[in-house]
Amino acid sequence: MLIDHLNQAAAERTAGALTRNRRTAHTGCAPHQTVSAKDGQVRPLLGFCSNDYLGLASHPAVIAAFAEGAQRYGAGSSASSLVNKHSLAHHQLESELARWFAPNIPKVQALYFCTGYMANLAVLSALGTDDATLFCDKLIHASLIDGALLARASMKRYPHCDVTTLARQLAACHSPLKLIVTDSVFSMDGDMAPLAEMLALAEHHDAWIVVDDAHGFGVLGERGRGALEHLGLTSERLIYVGTLGKAAGVAGAFVAAHRTIVEHLANVSRPYLHSAAAPPAIVHALLSSLTLIASNEGRERRDHLMQLIGQLRSGLQILQVRHPRAGWQLADSSTPIQPLIVGNNEAALSLSQALENDGIRVTAIRPPTVPNGTSRLRITLSASHTAADVTRLLDSLSAIMAPRGDA
Ligand SMILES: *Cc1c(COP(=O)(O)O)cnc(C)c1O
Repeated sequence: MLIDHLNQAAAERTAGALTRNRRTAHTGCAPHQTVSAKDGQVRPLLGFCSNDYLGLASHPAVIAAFAEGAQRYGAGSSASSLVNKHSLAHHQLESELARWFAPNIPKVQALYFCTGYMANLAVLSALGTDDATLFCDKLIHASLIDGALLARASMKRYPHCDVTTLARQLAACHSPLKLIVTDSVFSMDGDMAPLAEMLALAEHHDAWIVVDDAHGFGVLGERGRGALEHLGLTSERLIYVGTLGKAAGVAGAFVAAHRTIVEHLANVSRPYLHSAAAPPAIVHALLSSLTLIASNEGRERRDHLMQLIGQLRSGLQILQVRHPRAGWQLADSSTPIQPLIVGNNEAALSLSQALENDGIRVTAIRPPTVPNGTSRLRITLSASHTAADVTRLLDSLSAIMAPRGDA
């Protein structure tokens, strides 16, 4: 019977230290939060697990634009963009994004989706026809995997960032449509795909490349336009997915690609056609996020974020030298995602719990989000953290490790 069966599955999750618990936050998006703990107590916690990299989710200008958008357009969208209407806010956002990506993608057009998950399902299911082959990095995001599963295309996986294997797979493939699929910044590791080399391979092998820049958009690049700007890449073969619920601080995502591809998605992709459009108020708020990302303030926020990353990494490196048996390894990442790889599920949970006992929240990330044996504490930094916040995290980690007697 279903309930017994699911209870059994839940018991197995508990036994494997794989149960996930949601925490109720009583405050808005900011590092300093008030959260309900397991014991039901409501406590202040300093969080390092948000993807609000620039702190725009609580920016007064974005909040004001959200309210203004609701006044202007109402609370909802009433239907999908094709059935009822394409709001002016959606039109403005897509035009602005197309302008942003014009230097990187010739003949570019942009299309807004309610979530990054939907955008990835849309791209891969619409383009991954049965004569296509998808080439996917082993560590791509779950939404890309699900998109690939929905597609009729065949799928090949290559080891993480291994361009040699990718080149071999591309050379051996005779599909009329070859689509390389990768995250730009890997969501649980923080490292970056070698996009320039991959694009060269795509050009050599007549392939296309889907780049999921969920963690790069807003953060990377001189003007915050993401991985393509950061690396100076330009090609018609780039199919770019940016998300707007992380650094942009609101919600949604967009695909920027050759206009023929985007028109195709708008006409045939099921996540676009068969779901209500996002409320225009959200999209109106995003217009102000884009303005901020592009502004001097945006640049200052990125600079501050980079300083925090440097501070955290050098602090963690010192801790690692002082406590060689600390039980975690710092990942090789230069982005705001700074995981401490612990390995074992219980150990990751207990490190997370020890930090929480000290008023700091860093979620333990466990399988199936990451491969077995690589459970980790995924620390993420935001421009809304202060240097003092980072010091507090480092001091807390240091105090947790001190009793182990390595010092
Ligand atoms: C968060 C994320 C997504 C999904 O975006 P949502 O807008 O949250 O649905 C897609 N890809 C990657 C790499 C992500 O980290």
